[in-house]
Amino acid sequence: MFNFEDTRYNRQEQMPEWGKERQEKLKEAKVAVIGAGGVKSTFLMALVAGGIGNIRIIEFDTIELSNLNRQVLYRTDDIGRTKGQAALTTLTRLNPDINIELIEEKISENNIDNLLKDWDFIVEGGESPAGRNLVNEYCLQHKKPFTHASAQFSYGYAFSVVPKEKSACFACFFPEDHTRPEHTGAVPVNVLSTSLAGSIGAAEVFKWFLGYQDRMLTNKRLCFSSLLLSGEFTVEQQSRREDCPVCSIHYNN
Ligand SMILES: [Zn+2]
Repeated sequence: MFNFEDTRYNRQEQMPEWGKERQEKLKEAKVAVIGAGGVKSTFLMALVAGGIGNIRIIEFDTIELSNLNRQVLYRTDDIGRTKGQAALTTLTRLNPDINIELIEEKISENNIDNLLKDWDFIVEGGESPAGRNLVNEYCLQHKKPFTHASAQFSYGYAFSVVPKEKSACFACFFPEDHTRPEHTGAVPVNVLSTSLAGSIGAAEVFKWFLGYQDRMLTNKRLCFSSLLLSGEFTVEQQSRREDCPVCSIHYNN
């Protein structure tokens, strides 16, 4: 009953919930991804392998030896290269049909509009609270859906914010984070948790563009513990906080 042709997307096109027609639509998708570290390595590979047509990577960092336990986009002989250049090389080899743009800048108040305005979906997950909150506010203001996926130690989670539906924003999930300006620094982490978070996050992007927006992780987050597996994924509900100082401004206008 299956017709397994040797084409790039054949195996997923044979899935009834995916199909050839939806696969074609992915070509038009425009996704901006902020950062290309551990979670984003798996995230980006999933988007590129699966056929998300247009991807902008915003990353300014350089590859170090200690990245390689989890940042599966990079190889040992990439050490010293910029993550953006190395990611571009690997991802283009993975799927040359994808239009991938690289911006080697740190996102800030000054450049965020230029970096994100032409993109339909944003993948967040930056390491500093200030950066995360900047993206949250920008996406709320410009009604851009975004996904946040994160991993630390052996746990992680992912959720999405869909401003046009007034769903819980990043600051509703993390009210304290909003007031914490400083970078929290390096934390222990491993490849199991970053890859799981990246895959769960990438599923959010595919759901959006494949037409399953009603099944996204909005107003809730999917959490897991990966190492020495706890055996449980949990869903934590998070409805919008009426008194949220961030989304209240944008949702009430
Ligand atoms: Zn909020």
